[in-house]
Amino acid sequence: MSRICYLNGQYISPAHASVSPEDRGFLMGDGVYEVIACIHGHMADETGHLDRLERSLKELQMDMPVTRESLRFLMREVVRRNRQKNAAIYLQVSRGAAKRDFAFPDADTPQTLFIIAYDYDFSGQISPISVKTTEDQRWKRRDIKTVLLLPQSMAKQNALDEGYGDAWMLDPEGYVNEASASNAYIIKDGTIITRPVSHNILKGITRTAIEKLCRDSDIKFEERKFKPQEAYEADEAFNSSATSLIVPINNIDGHDIFNGKRGKITELLYKEYRAYADGLRGEQISWEAGL
Ligand code: PLP
Repeated sequence: MSRICYLNGQYISPAHASVSPEDRGFLMGDGVYEVIACIHGHMADETGHLDRLERSLKELQMDMPVTRESLRFLMREVVRRNRQKNAAIYLQVSRGAAKRDFAFPDADTPQTLFIIAYDYDFSGQISPISVKTTEDQRWKRRDIKTVLLLPQSMAKQNALDEGYGDAWMLDPEGYVNEASASNAYIIKDGTIITRPVSHNILKGITRTAIEKLCRDSDIKFEERKFKPQEAYEADEAFNSSATSLIVPINNIDGHDIFNGKRGKITELLYKEYRAYADGLRGEQISWEAGL
């Protein structure tokens, strides 16, 4: 099936879509993005993703390129034109094309808006993965979802090259920040533990939903830092993100977690989260940076 994406007012095949080489997203990584799961036609956590998009843009002195209603429409239209029921929707906004200069161009420079939907299979259980801890080499505003992704990409590739499934990136004191493209958690004695929100991590929309699910179902959710040593001795561990959802972790740096199997609380949480993400339970929740 030929794919159709949306770029600056046009529905077009990605093969024929083009962006100016002077686009600041291309030259400087001057842009932000969101990834939203469309599960059986339902846009999971769409409200939260649009909340975070608006906040990321604001932090970089940009406005929304079009209204929220328009974004909602455009995403649905891309999915509809591709006849997709299950997709990972990628939405990117850059500051647009201008003469290369470190100073921002005039505020009326047209932004670049790009939306594409990749086929995605949300059926079946998610297999557990192993993670390798590594130094976090990113800039200091990780709370903004920018397209500056090379450090995460390198961390992930290095982990894969060494036979692991993903990387957990550590702050200079050796505490776990997050995974290459997910938030990171451990579970000990029934309590879910994850790093508090700060400029160090991206506050996941999925993380926000998980926190609410825990609070609604009396599962203890504790925000505090933890080091790999504590994680090696955890009962369970998992990552969360919009498209990978909740991924059980069965090994950290060679230390088996839950005997290398899928953890029980992780599985329960996955089921609860799926009911919410599939649109079968609960209202969509909003997202705030909390900073
Ligand atoms: N942390 C990082 C660095 C990410 O890139 C992502 C998602 O891409 C997340 C956390 C999880 O965010 P969300 O749950 O909103 O997908």
